[in-house]
Amino acid sequence: MTTRILVTGGAGFIGSHHVRTLLGPDGPPGVEVTVLDALTYAGNLANLAPVRAHPGFRFVRGDIRDGALVDPLVAEHDEVVHFAAESHVDRSIESAGEFVATNVLGTQTLLDAALRGGLKTFVHISTDEVYGSLAEGSWPEDDPLRPNSPYAASKASAELLVMAFHRTHGLDVRVTRCSNNYGHHHYPEKLIPLFITNLLDGKRVPLYGDGLHVRDWLHIDDHVRGIELVRTLGRPGGIYNIGGGTELTNKDLTGRLLAACGAGWDQVEHVEDRKGHDRRYSVDWTRIRDELGYAPEVAFDEALAETVAWYRANRGWWEPLKARATAGSR
Ligand code: NAD
Repeated sequence: MTTRILVTGGAGFIGSHHVRTLLGPDGPPGVEVTVLDALTYAGNLANLAPVRAHPGFRFVRGDIRDGALVDPLVAEHDEVVHFAAESHVDRSIESAGEFVATNVLGTQTLLDAALRGGLKTFVHISTDEVYGSLAEGSWPEDDPLRPNSPYAASKASAELLVMAFHRTHGLDVRVTRCSNNYGHHHYPEKLIPLFITNLLDGKRVPLYGDGLHVRDWLHIDDHVRGIELVRTLGRPGGIYNIGGGTELTNKDLTGRLLAACGAGWDQVEHVEDRKGHDRRYSVDWTRIRDELGYAPEVAFDEALAETVAWYRANRGWWEPLKARATAGSR
C-alpha cells in the first residue's frame, strides 16, 4: 500500500533532508511525496535535486496560507509533515508579521484542510524555543510554554492550535520539539553555516554578547530519524522532544568552528547581544527514547568537520544565497 505524504516547507533545510531521506535508497517502501513550498528566500529547489526525477516525487509551489490550493492538496494525501515556517529569530525581532501569518495562520489553514480532507496523520515540526530559557536541568514535554522571541511565540501559538484540533476534533496530530539543527544545506544566515562560510571567505564572524549562551546541537540525520519514528510509531496527540546530546556555549562552538576552518580568534568580532536572547535551551528526550527507541547517533565533532567540508566543496550552493542577501540589504 502506498502512503502519500505532503511535506510543507520541503525545499528548506530540514524539510528537504526529510524528503531526500524518504525517497532515498534507505527510505521506507511505498511512499509518495509531494512538497508544498512557497520558495521564500529560505526555500531552494537545488535542495531537492537528488529526488526531482523520482517517480514518487511531486513539487507544488504555493503558500500554506492559500486555502483554495491547500484544501484539495491535503485531501489527496494520507499524512502531512509540516515544516513550512519563517524560522530565523533575528528576522522575527525586526518584524513579526510574517511569522504570525505563516507560522500561525498557515498552520491553521493546513489543520482546517486536514479536518475537511479526512487526513490520517498530521506531524507538526515545532522547536525547543517554545519553552523559553532555563538555567539548569532539561525540559520535559509537560513543562509550560514560555516563549520569548516573536519567532518562538508564533511557533508556540501554532502548536497550541495543533493540540486544540486533536482535543476538539480528534485529529491525529503529533508534535516534535527539536533542538538546534546543523548539517549540510543549511541557509547561511544561521550561526553554523554563517560562521563557516564567512571563515572560508576569510571574513570575520559575529559572536553575540558574552558568547555564553548554551544550545543543544542536533544533526539533521538524527532529527529526521526522530521525525520518522514519530510519524510511523508515535501516539496521536503525542508531543516529543528530540535532542542531539551535545550542549555547547556559543563560544565553545565558535572555537570548534575556528579550528575546523583553520582560523584564529582574531577572526571573531564581539557584537551587541541579540534582544531578549535566551540563555540556555535543553530538552529532556527521555520520552522519545523510552516510547520509540530514539537516541542521537551522530558524533558532533566528526559531523561538524563533514559539514565544513560540505560548505568548502559546495560554494556553488551558498555563494549565490549570500550574494542575494547582501544585495537585498543594500
Ligand atoms: P528553513 O527556513 O530552512 O525552511 C523553511 C521552508 O518553508 C522554506 O523552504 C520556505 O520556502 C518554506 N516556507 C516559508 N513560508 C512558507 C509559506 N507561507 N508557505 C509555504 N512554504 C513556506 O527552515 P528549517 O530550518 O528547515 O526549519 C524547518 C522547521 O523546523 C520550521 O518549522 C522550524 O521552526 C523548525 N525548527 C528548526 C530548527 C533549526 O535548527 N533549523 C530548530 C527547531 C525547529
